[in-house]
Amino acid sequence: MVKAAVILAAGLGSRLGKRTKEKPKGFLEIGDKTLIEHSILHLLSSGIERIYIGTGYLKEFYEELALRYKEITCVTNEQYDVTGSMYTLFQFKNYVKEDFLLLESDLLYDQAALTILQYHHYPDVLLASELTDTNDEVFIEVDDKNQLVNMEKDQNRLFNIYGELIGITKLSYGTFQALCYFADKELQKNKKLDYERALIELCSEKPIAVHKVKELAWCEIDNEVHLKRAVETVYPQIKENMKDRVIEKKILLNPGPAATSNTVKYAQVVPDICPREKEFGAVMKWTAEELTSIVGNRADYTTILFGGSGTAAVEAMISSIVDQDTLLIINNGAYGKRMCQIADAYGIHYIEYKSKQDHPLSLKKLEAIIKKRWPKISHVAVVHHETTTGLLNDIEAIGSLCRCYDVELLVDAMSSFAAVPIAMERMNIHYLAASSNKNLQGMAGVSFVIANKKCLEQLKNIKARSYYLNLYEQYEYFKKTGQMRFTPPVQTLYAMKQAVVEAKKEGIVNRYNRYKKLWNLLIKGITELGLNHIVKEEHHAKLITAIIEPSHKRYHFNELHDYLYERGVTIYPGKLADLNTFRIANIGELEETEIELFLYHLKQYLEKLDLLNN
Ligand SMILES: *Cc1c(COP(=O)(O)O)cnc(C)c1O
Repeated sequence: MVKAAVILAAGLGSRLGKRTKEKPKGFLEIGDKTLIEHSILHLLSSGIERIYIGTGYLKEFYEELALRYKEITCVTNEQYDVTGSMYTLFQFKNYVKEDFLLLESDLLYDQAALTILQYHHYPDVLLASELTDTNDEVFIEVDDKNQLVNMEKDQNRLFNIYGELIGITKLSYGTFQALCYFADKELQKNKKLDYERALIELCSEKPIAVHKVKELAWCEIDNEVHLKRAVETVYPQIKENMKDRVIEKKILLNPGPAATSNTVKYAQVVPDICPREKEFGAVMKWTAEELTSIVGNRADYTTILFGGSGTAAVEAMISSIVDQDTLLIINNGAYGKRMCQIADAYGIHYIEYKSKQDHPLSLKKLEAIIKKRWPKISHVAVVHHETTTGLLNDIEAIGSLCRCYDVELLVDAMSSFAAVPIAMERMNIHYLAASSNKNLQGMAGVSFVIANKKCLEQLKNIKARSYYLNLYEQYEYFKKTGQMRFTPPVQTLYAMKQAVVEAKKEGIVNRYNRYKKLWNLLIKGITELGLNHIVKEEHHAKLITAIIEPSHKRYHFNELHDYLYERGVTIYPGKLADLNTFRIANIGELEETEIELFLYHLKQYLEKLDLLNN
């Protein structure tokens, strides 16, 4: 995918008279935003990460804009009043070293235009439309392969007219270099050269595909008539089209899958691809490496991906790592218990350390158990964040203990990974399991184990207990081939890659801070309604909270659930045997206003049942 865009915005826009006396053309307002901001928002939501603007006339406007969008870099064409658009583009010679989308600043367009170019299989593509009859068209002539031959404003000078130039083009870095090479010589003779002319000169050696879109809402704004058309016809059409594409926002307060961004959702819509292709291998490799980097250095740790829900990774870990010795499983909630059940299913020797659900475990007791059985105990397994209660286990202290007894540590970090900071080396964690759909904010379907490479290599000698969920085999195969052993969830992995991009962009620390803010808001709200939660703040991960249900007989969880669900809010039942609770997760693509909305509806509901004391 192309990650950069160049917008040519140096020109005077003199045909718009007084409208462009005090501001450049890109700052004309259409609807609620300026033309340039419409364009920038489209670019960002199409996955563009770097936007270069070629400025000249009234460049301060764009420089002010760059202060608001950190993705923008402005580069000035100082001779904007005596040069053409190629001169502006040439200024980027030393800035842009990658494929990019080239756009003019006076365009209003439907974002679909960018999607077409992003996914187009040719590296150099010029976007064309049907003729718009706006009296200012640039007509395009193509050959029999729909490749660019010529462009002219005067249609009599062309042999055929295939379509009209939109002014949005995808250029490969190679073609850009060739363009600059040509322009370098040509601009000395003719500073007024425009980029369209330069492309024509180049297209016999670098074929440029012309892609004609059938019904794209777009226009260029050069004069009053264009502006009127933009406001009255094109913009309403774009808004109408957007409506069809907007995905309704649901407020998910269940403990995963968490709500995702639209960009993560859309990332799944890709051309069909065979997952054995190198191109797809690169997607998995990149994603796996970035996952490793969240918790460890890539020299010593690696990520092994599996298709499956989170439990698949936990199962791969438990079944592949412990050989003839004993696994000590810490159980202080439903997910600790699940590890015992997995060990049971595979007939693994284990002992269970059962500890209270709402209290930190006792390190002393844990040490006593290890000591008593030592050296039979080879591994300890623990859930980092017990999703049933919100209790955060102190894995760093457990890791230190394991170091003393030379025992390896396995952590189920499913609901803490990518929020609560983890450092595998410092915390002495040898294996860690997590999945795509909780704090990572991706789609459900990929789970993974992050492992110390030295430990992994040792697993070679253990007789396989599971064919599919074999950690060593999956690791070895991926290392050799860049592929998973069996068909991966292809589209889910594309979404996961985008989720990783977005997690990096937000930053794990910032993400956790955002979650914690939401948690504070939640706790304040439920406390005001007279409700309590079970784990004390100092031991709470602040991600998922078990809230004690009202004990009144008029209250039924399912009715509360349905009441909220009808209003776009999803909540989740509790999972504790001895206490009636429901659970609220404050993770995922969530905002404060959405927690407030939940609290509002909860209050309304409790009032309706007359369950509020005041
Ligand atoms: C969510 C979760 C899992 C995995 O659940 P799946 O339904 O298999 O995705 C495992 N452990 C913990 C602590 C979890 O929160």
